Amino acid sequence: MTAEMNEGGCRCGAVRFGARGAPRLVANCHCRDCRRATGSAFATFADYERDQVTFKTPPTSYSSSQGAERLFCEHCGSPIAFRSDASPDEINIHIGAFDHPEKFRPSEECHQENALWPTT
Ligand SMILES: [Zn+2]
Ligand SMILES: [Zn+2]
Repeated sequence: MTAEMNEGGCRCGAVRFGARGAPRLVANCHCRDCRRATGSAFATFADYERDQVTFKTPPTSYSSSQGAERLFCEHCGSPIAFRSDASPDEINIHIGAFDHPEKFRPSEECHQENALWPTT
């Protein structure tokens, strides 16, 4: 039996990756860091084990806070993923980078205290 493979990449196609199997979790993150890094109201991530994800062409990384880095395409600037030393076996991929983002329906909200339009 082969695990499902979900492929994705950046806007221009210079960065491509594949994620094997199901993510641990899909969540919306409302923290200010994610807002700035994506230019969106919030970020939606699919949380994978690092060894589930293979980059065919590696993205560029930027150290966004101590022990944390954001991966992006150096050509088109698309945000791709986030990883942190606090969770060394995890990589959080922005679902918008996947070829079929509709497969990744979020089930959790993170940092909702920072949400722009909190739900009651
Ligand atoms: Zn690109
Ligand atoms: Zn965040």
